[in-house]
Amino acid sequence: MKFSQLFMPTLREDPAEAEVVSHKLMVRAGLIRKLASGIYSWLPVGLRSLRKVENIIRDEMNRAGAQEILMPAVQPGDIWKESGRWTAYGKELLRFKDRHDHEYCLGPTHEEVVTDIMRREIRSYRDLPVNLYQIQQKFRDEIRPRFGVMRGREFGMKDAYSFDKDDPGAETSYRAMFQAYINIFKRCGLRFTPVEADSGSIGGSFSHEFMVLAETGEDAIVHCASCGYAANTEKAPFVCSAQTQAQDLDAPPYSKVLTPGMHTVEKATKFLNIEAREMLKTMIYKTDNGPVAVLILGDREVNAIKLKKVVGGESDPELAPPSMVQEVTGVPLGFIGPVGLNMPMLADIGVRALGRVATGGNEPEYHIINVVPGRDFSVTEYHDLSAARPGDLCPQCQGTLTIARGIEVGHVFKLGDKYSKAMGATFLNAEGKKDPIIMGCYGIGIGRTVAASIEQNHDESGIIWPMPLAPFEVTVLPLQAQDPEIMAAAEKLYQDLLGLGVEALLDDRDERAGIKFKDADLVGIPFRVSVSRKSLAAGQVEFKERRSSEVRMIPLAEAAQTLLGWRNDQLAQAKA
Ligand SMILES: [Zn+2]
Repeated sequence: MKFSQLFMPTLREDPAEAEVVSHKLMVRAGLIRKLASGIYSWLPVGLRSLRKVENIIRDEMNRAGAQEILMPAVQPGDIWKESGRWTAYGKELLRFKDRHDHEYCLGPTHEEVVTDIMRREIRSYRDLPVNLYQIQQKFRDEIRPRFGVMRGREFGMKDAYSFDKDDPGAETSYRAMFQAYINIFKRCGLRFTPVEADSGSIGGSFSHEFMVLAETGEDAIVHCASCGYAANTEKAPFVCSAQTQAQDLDAPPYSKVLTPGMHTVEKATKFLNIEAREMLKTMIYKTDNGPVAVLILGDREVNAIKLKKVVGGESDPELAPPSMVQEVTGVPLGFIGPVGLNMPMLADIGVRALGRVATGGNEPEYHIINVVPGRDFSVTEYHDLSAARPGDLCPQCQGTLTIARGIEVGHVFKLGDKYSKAMGATFLNAEGKKDPIIMGCYGIGIGRTVAASIEQNHDESGIIWPMPLAPFEVTVLPLQAQDPEIMAAAEKLYQDLLGLGVEALLDDRDERAGIKFKDADLVGIPFRVSVSRKSLAAGQVEFKERRSSEVRMIPLAEAAQTLLGWRNDQLAQAKA
């Protein structure tokens, strides 16, 4: 492709509405354009990367024995009523009626459609297993679409569904998909980790998320370098090591200390000259089952998902606003304590491990010291409620946990017989009896993977594509485009690269070198080759990798072959 013919509308400034770097760079480099809230068009350069992700997925899915199909985006409401999700799915399901007044929706996912196909066709256990996948546009009417294509309403997805005759079979299908996903994200050139997405079943988990690691990621991941344990801290909170009771029976009776204005843990502990972990925080949460006090050590934070599991209810527990705290406890925020507090009190198990603590005084401007849990106040229940922190013990091997951030790009999930039972997808087993088909589902967000790779690979000048996802692999820059000799040399190199199957972009515009460098950096093409008067006089071209600052000269005559070799090395590295 020649730059002069390329439709790549770039912008100098970040779009005002873009909150994350991938969104900013995708708009600035002319990869995408917005049509409506959460709905984007992919322009030529963006589409090239999107197609690369798709092709890698297709290749690995086929290799794993899955077969590609294409299901409709428009789905009849009837099958969603059968599965029970017509109402359960909520407002994210975009429902509408056709001219005959029949109900339809735009598919946010395809379990119902694929189950409908299989219930009509699968007769016997001999017809199983089957794994079907598609690459298709989905629609979810997100309440707050943001982050560009990362959380859009319409988005491209690869969704696969496995069908087995029993649990061991479903487990085999799950493992095959798990391995395929490892291969896919490796081949995309991404740093990623699979994490457990269901807390209840360490070791036997049948739900994993694949996270691309990036500092800007939405999800926090706890990770153990010793055993490889990884979990999403929000969705599958790590299990705190059990803390034993260590009541300090020698503690003197508790006493009040005047602490004027010391309404934060930081201020109060400094004033009392104690560590944050020797101070008990008492927090009032609003839950569906009424307000509760949550007690946790001063250096810890409450994990709302763990709390929700304990208190139950539909909505997430929320910290009560100051007015509600005052109303419920009679004490202003910052001075609440468990001594004399008359309401349900849940304590983190870490609280048990401290013999004595300081707490809020349950009276404005006062704290209490030498408070012994169990002696001076009674906890309703102890639970594992705290959020994971770097340095915590690994629940699997007692190694040390670190915290990383990531972006979820894939999810593998064992569905079991949820849909096959609800929709009557059965088969005759070897004994001639009807059994429900055991299903699994496996998704990858395709546009999201492109965006995540940018979140992981960029600098202040623009995108830094990993070779396997780069829209172009090499850009050839004739630095003095008016000079016919330079243009001819650049054009020949460009043609040679194309001839060798290298995806090259020739910047044949009559622009200053600075502008060409800037655009090449913004779009993030991995290899840059410049042809100038000076280099040509020496029979050389100047080579620079996008991710490095090093510039080196390579002989013009060998340039195409050299670049081919280096390109192949990088693709092979990703595969290995
Ligand atoms: Zn471990």
